[in-house]
Amino acid sequence: ISRFEKDFIKGQCIGQGGFGKVYQCESRIDKQSYAIKVIRMRSDDIKTLEKQLSECRNHAQFNSPNFVRYHDAWLELDSCSGSLSESDNSGQSITSWNSDLLTANEENLNDANVSINRVAENSELKMHILYIKMELCNSTLDKYLERRMDLGSNATINIRVNRRFINSLLSAIEFLHRKDIVHRDIKPSNIFVNSQDGRDTILLGDFGLARKIQGQALPDDMEPLASSMLSSNVGTFLYAAPELSSKKYTKSVDIYSAGIVIYELFIIFKTGHERVAMLKELRETGVPSREFNQHFAVWAPIITSMISKSADKRPTASKLVTECEAAFWTEKLSIKNIRKEY
Ligand code: ATP
Ligand code: MG
Ligand code: MG
Repeated sequence: ISRFEKDFIKGQCIGQGGFGKVYQCESRIDKQSYAIKVIRMRSDDIKTLEKQLSECRNHAQFNSPNFVRYHDAWLELDSCSGSLSESDNSGQSITSWNSDLLTANEENLNDANVSINRVAENSELKMHILYIKMELCNSTLDKYLERRMDLGSNATINIRVNRRFINSLLSAIEFLHRKDIVHRDIKPSNIFVNSQDGRDTILLGDFGLARKIQGQALPDDMEPLASSMLSSNVGTFLYAAPELSSKKYTKSVDIYSAGIVIYELFIIFKTGHERVAMLKELRETGVPSREFNQHFAVWAPIITSMISKSADKRPTASKLVTECEAAFWTEKLSIKNIRKEY
């Protein structure tokens, strides 16, 4: 019997990404709500399994207030063999052979492949389902910014909130980079928002593309992110450092993405179309708009340095934590609510 079915009541689908769906679920045991990410893949596709497992293996290491809290992950084998159906809740727990699978990594991939083939011979095409159980967050930064935009002329840029968001985002990146991990997918839909006592805080999540890097050079398996993936989805493309589609990139790709996110925090766009146009312009020119410069003179050079086309000119996360805090003090805006219109 499926552990997912046995222990959880599946609620609504709260998100969908490239590989899986995320459901709001209630535990039958502790009665609390969780977000459970459900990723389905062919059981003979060991490469994909390995990639998906790296998501929870990375996430499990990040026990810090600036990250979405990770709880648990487990694998199930879909019992309706041979079917590529969309049903996520017909699973059967993996038994004896799963230990081969779970120890699969670069070195013993071949052994694991053998064990997978053995399974595949005995059965028709089966599906693996990876469940990742984590804290249920209230929202994401993209929804938050959309809601702010929808307020139209009533929208305000709350400098105090921006200060908290920027500090949390940069601290999260600093934490990862200190552990030599590059996130590679920093964008508003992967930044989560929690609201408690009328106070919004942000957390970094979605470690699907996070990888360990050695020093400044990326290991050979660090394939360039497919340009098709980067160009097909404007929500991803707008934040991706230009060099991500090549083989040579470093931790500084995360700084580039964070620079675009920070720019966006200071602007209330009139429409989604204007947002895309202005972020594209920022990417192309490499400098914030003239209006932005006038209103946020202290922030313009910081953003310019973060999105520099020469990756080695971008500041480190730890330097930015200090620089951004100083910027808030310089502008003495930290206690005022202001509205800016462009
Ligand atoms: P991507 O295409 O960005 O790689 P993905 O398949 O990796 O997407 P996530 O980004 O982890 O999936 O989740 C997709 C969406 O589901 C999020 O943007 C968010 O809206 C929702 N979501 C995911 N995890 C949570 C959570 N812990 N709490 C609340 N909502 C969540
Ligand atoms: Mg995501
Ligand atoms: Mg992802």
